[in-house]
Amino acid sequence: MVFDCHAHIASSKTLPISFVKGMVNNLVASMPKQLEKKQEEYLQKVIYQLMNHDDEGEMMIEEMNKAEISKSVLLIIDYGIVFPDDFPVLEEVFQLHRRVLEKYPDRFIVFSGIDPRRGKKGLDLFEKSIKEWRFKGLKLYPPCGFNPSDPIVFPFYEIAQKYQIPVLLHTGPTSPSLPFKYSAPELIDEAAYRFPKVNFILAHAAFMMHEQASILAEYRPNIYLDVSGFTNAIRMERFKSILLEHKKRGILNKVLFGTDWPIHRLNGNQKDLVEMFRTKAEEVLTSEEIENIMYNNIHKIIKPN
Ligand SMILES: [Zn+2]
Repeated sequence: MVFDCHAHIASSKTLPISFVKGMVNNLVASMPKQLEKKQEEYLQKVIYQLMNHDDEGEMMIEEMNKAEISKSVLLIIDYGIVFPDDFPVLEEVFQLHRRVLEKYPDRFIVFSGIDPRRGKKGLDLFEKSIKEWRFKGLKLYPPCGFNPSDPIVFPFYEIAQKYQIPVLLHTGPTSPSLPFKYSAPELIDEAAYRFPKVNFILAHAAFMMHEQASILAEYRPNIYLDVSGFTNAIRMERFKSILLEHKKRGILNKVLFGTDWPIHRLNGNQKDLVEMFRTKAEEVLTSEEIENIMYNNIHKIIKPN
């Protein structure tokens, strides 16, 4: 069985075009020839469409069934402060996720996503989503422009502590439409130190910027790492050596499987991603260690529906 701890609804209502434009610009810059404007726009359209056509989660359920993923965590990202012209009212995004959760309560878990600069309004929405809508965690996206250990975020960690729910934070590079300076794993250390009862999941950090992140996971009991974006490590031929390093550090039980659907869709469907991870991991880990990463570990820090 597989538990995907990092996924998103593929919907234009949740993913700003500004974010995708940055990704495409970066892709184009690495091509051997300058693309014509028309070609660039076409590429942008194709990539945007790949990520946006499943508002109700139906296609994702099909993908999960084929991949034998029993549950997926859907993460809300609040881009409303950084891309105000390009993102709906945040409450509408929450309602969209609420509908999907009501439709598939056994298959999805939802994490609230709020930019802490929303202040009291954001805090109230976060608490309501936990108390009334049974959301099970908080997703923070520091590249939107805040330090995850800034006191502005502390009231959100206090609520996470009160309800004993985990906080998942983006780490590492992202779309070049956003600054990268707040995405370093070390920036989460102070928050994790001040809130020892809150479990922090560092998104992508099992493979991206893993040098810093794995030290935090080794020495802080409340820091976990997710593997989403692992295809980059396969491409760089570093996948196996990094997994072995986690094993030597004794942190394999703090590593969580995630696909980051639909962001990594260009690398394959959900089934491809699951098979890719398992096949590569089998070369260096035991089946029990793989089962822990892909299914068991997340159950230590997440409450059942
Ligand atoms: Zn993600």
